[in-house]
Amino acid sequence: MPYDYRPQLDWIRAQAPAQREELLRLSNINSGSYHADGVNRVAARLEQLFAPLEAGVERLELPPHRVTNDRGDTVAHPVGRALRLRKRPDAPLQVFLAGHMDTVFGASHPFQAARVVDDDTLNGPGVADLKGGLLVMLLALSALERSPHRDRIGWEVLFNPDEEIGSEGSAPLFRDAATRHAFGLVFEPSFPDGNLASARKGSGNFDVIVRGRAAHAGRDPHLGRNALRAAAGVVAALDALNGQRRDLTLNVGYVHGGGPTNIVPDLCVVKFNVRTSVAADEQWLHAQLDRILADAQKKEGIKLELRGLFTRGPKVLTPSIERLASMIGDCGRQLGLALEFRPTGGCCDGNNLAAAGLPNIDNLGVVGGEIHSDREFMRLSSLPERAQLSALLLLRLASGDLTWN
Ligand SMILES: [Zn+2]
Repeated sequence: MPYDYRPQLDWIRAQAPAQREELLRLSNINSGSYHADGVNRVAARLEQLFAPLEAGVERLELPPHRVTNDRGDTVAHPVGRALRLRKRPDAPLQVFLAGHMDTVFGASHPFQAARVVDDDTLNGPGVADLKGGLLVMLLALSALERSPHRDRIGWEVLFNPDEEIGSEGSAPLFRDAATRHAFGLVFEPSFPDGNLASARKGSGNFDVIVRGRAAHAGRDPHLGRNALRAAAGVVAALDALNGQRRDLTLNVGYVHGGGPTNIVPDLCVVKFNVRTSVAADEQWLHAQLDRILADAQKKEGIKLELRGLFTRGPKVLTPSIERLASMIGDCGRQLGLALEFRPTGGCCDGNNLAAAGLPNIDNLGVVGGEIHSDREFMRLSSLPERAQLSALLLLRLASGDLTWN
């Protein structure tokens, strides 16, 4: 290394004990995606934590998130605000950093508190996904701001409140950011073995609302049109799409309908998720859905309604993503980390950035695992380690030791 980055890297190391306490505090704030007040409390704390960096701050209201309830109606759930920070928007190299503030653990979920398991392990809601990553961002940017070369890099940070429910409300903010940056860094947790994600599958969430006709099951069964029976056919047809197209998978994850067994049920709500690997999968799937719905509606008295959309396109490797990966891999080697990149079926905001044309690496947060369960953990030693990784990338780009263009 032609420049000595040790002062900034050592500074990160020295912050580890305080950041560990901060991560405990952040994880103890419930910020389930639908708990807007809790998400806003996380945002308020982040504003305080990032204040020393003296970036411009914007709090952005997002539209409510719409979901289908068990009656088949669309209901709107308010979500928290997004927080956007911008620093040196006129600097030669513009870098975008993002992390979500919400978790999958709602206000009434039993998993509410973080605890230290051992010297290197923290267990708690969001410790890895993604609150640890928020502090990785803080440390990496703070290290850049301590560099004499910081003026070469301008940065924008986006904290969104709705990643775990598909980022529908914050998607325009990502598309917008993609137009004014060279590349993106997203702070989802790394794989449990410390390695990083390359290609990611795309994802869509859909609902089918099946309506029939209610009738007395004993006196007038001939007048009824059983919505559960029609939904069962739809579920079987949807599941049969698995294996029909390479790397496309479909999971029916929710079915709700019926009531007392002496009533022919008139309503059933079916929800499913689809994972895609190339953009053309989306058209193919829509053609299949049209066919399945048309078939089911051939039965007199049965009506179906489809709602939903693909919220994340597949993230396909491009030369610029590979270039960014190789720069990060090189920074890792300088820090003694052997990082490998591999594809995953999981998706995140990195998908949306890539779809909008912004190359990015998207799991630069802490090392952890068992996310979305009450066994979620993160490795405490990875907080300074991953902060040093992103910091070194930024420091080397700022000094000119690495060049993006
Ligand atoms: Zn998650």
